Amino acid sequence: MIKTKNLIKIFRTDEVETTALNNVNLEINEGEFVAIMGPSGCGKSTLLNIIGLLDNPSEGELHFNGYQVENYSERQRTNLRKENIGFVFQSFNLIDELTVFENVELPLLYMKVSGSERKRRVNEALERMNIAHRAKHFPQQLSGGQQQRVAIARAVISNPKLILADEPTGNLDSANGEEVMNLLTQLNEEGTTIIMVTHSPSDADRSHRIIQLFDGHVVTENMRQKL
Ligand code: ATP
Ligand code: MG
Repeated sequence: MIKTKNLIKIFRTDEVETTALNNVNLEINEGEFVAIMGPSGCGKSTLLNIIGLLDNPSEGELHFNGYQVENYSERQRTNLRKENIGFVFQSFNLIDELTVFENVELPLLYMKVSGSERKRRVNEALERMNIAHRAKHFPQQLSGGQQQRVAIARAVISNPKLILADEPTGNLDSANGEEVMNLLTQLNEEGTTIIMVTHSPSDADRSHRIIQLFDGHVVTENMRQKL
């Protein structure tokens, strides 16, 4: 599903040049649940953003479902992203001015799904994430765990084949973190490919494979035994 070839990312500011990714070669298959780990600043978020077409590599190749995409136009990238990828972030990234329902509805508006169909699908996703009773509330009125469940509902509303999660439990206590991990595990068992950045060994235990980054390099890839 995802393949990178000699991926390099260099950030240049006025005074400093940072090599965030230095020759990353990876292959991630459909249906996998992969955890990316490594110390702060080693390039995990950069890698996830490039895989998710939110950022461009400086050099190297990115293949998505067999297509070489690193030189895609902004429009092609946006389409690919909307059709295939759901994002979950540490800080939830919900829109404060929109209700829970409206936040989750947003991707369907972009996809021009009809009003009645939107309502049906949003309600179903909110039920599934156990947050339907908060549909009319605003993000600031919810706990962190509830906000992350709304964010996951928004990520899955378009039935993406791939979910990219950047420290999805980073701002949650252990009970809420566990609930979020249960939801991600369930989505993976239903066939969604998941790539998750995490600092938490117990979250990484849910994955099939841990990719360890250090200073922009892949240092180890551990296949985990499926229980
Ligand atoms: P953390 O665990 O703290 O989230 P990370 O592994 O996700 O760290 P990245 O955010 O990928 O790390 O950053 C990798 C390196 O690239 C860091 O040195 C960071 O300072 C640098 N970097 C990231 N984004 C930018 C940017 N937009 N401009 C300049 N440098 C950047
Ligand atoms: Mg990060």
